[in-house]
Amino acid sequence: MKAIQICETGGPEVLTLAELPIPEPGPGQVLIRVEAVGVNFIEIYFRKGVYKAALPMTLGSEAAGTVEELGPGVSGFEAGDAVASVSVLGSYAEYALVPAAQLVKVPAGLSMEQAAAAMLQGMTAHYLAYSTFPLKAGDTALVHAGAGGVGLLLTQMASRLGARVITTVSTKAKAELSREAGASEVILYTEKDFETEVKRLTDGKGVDVVYDSVGKTTFEQSLNCLRPRGTLALFGASSGPVPPFDLIQLSSKGSLFITRPTLWHHVTTRQELEWRAGDVMSWAVKGKLKLRTELMYPLAEAAHAHIDLENRATTGKLLLEP
Ligand code: NDP
Repeated sequence: MKAIQICETGGPEVLTLAELPIPEPGPGQVLIRVEAVGVNFIEIYFRKGVYKAALPMTLGSEAAGTVEELGPGVSGFEAGDAVASVSVLGSYAEYALVPAAQLVKVPAGLSMEQAAAAMLQGMTAHYLAYSTFPLKAGDTALVHAGAGGVGLLLTQMASRLGARVITTVSTKAKAELSREAGASEVILYTEKDFETEVKRLTDGKGVDVVYDSVGKTTFEQSLNCLRPRGTLALFGASSGPVPPFDLIQLSSKGSLFITRPTLWHHVTTRQELEWRAGDVMSWAVKGKLKLRTELMYPLAEAAHAHIDLENRATTGKLLLEP
């Protein structure tokens, strides 16, 4: 089978198309034929060596596909089932293994592409809006990268919960998409200082929560955008990791809260996984959650997907087609 591997860390050029044997499912595992692969920033962190892994490594953790074979002890699935997961053991491939405990069925009415697009970014938006800082009517949230994959989904969920959503984006085209997703106000941070704008838009009060996936270049100002006792949910580092930070600043800036959440700690039980995946996929089927999936690359062109994602050239979800 074909798979995209890295044998060393580095730029997009380290992604290599390899020919590997189809893996055999062990106890508790399911072999799937991959039909759509979700591309996520985490693969860029692994490729660059920001996150460590044993090499060679087949990249990728998100995919939708069809069950091929069940490992010993697996029940609840059968060959031919349409399934999806964010815990695939190397999803940039034609076939991949998935722990059955982390696999969910794709409901009728959702394509493989939509399923692959919904899972990781959708469940991330879900835990941010429903668990990290559970939003309610009247709250004001600042969402960075408002036209990004997570950003578009988070904005839709937050506005549906009745929150006022202010977003930041780099271009006018992205501003338009962010508005369509439900943002009340969109700040073009390439033209205006977002901290000044947020203060102006909130009459100097600040927002209740900042959902910050950008990291290094936004962190300090994100804190300044919060109301006293507001929450910063720092959930990514698209611009690079945030440098070490003196906690006393949380006091001087208004008894603030910071959390650095990750999806893996929000799908720890079968019940929680089914709740989040079920919500996201059923909303997508009913048209309550709009998925943006127009960027599809052949598996062999995974490097292009990485380049586009890193260069802020994308909106919504990037997928690979094996
Ligand atoms: P996005 O589609 O949001 O792409 C990143 C966006 O960030 C860009 O399009 C760009 O938007 C903005 N950005 C700002 N500065 C930079 C920069 N220096 N380099 C690159 N991009 C920049 O990606 P995803 O939706 O896939 O992921 C968003 C973030 O969320 C990532 O950091 C990812 O690691 C994180 N994440 C975290 C999870 C968790 O559980 N903790 C789970 C899933 C994702 P603009 O042009 O508008 O500035």
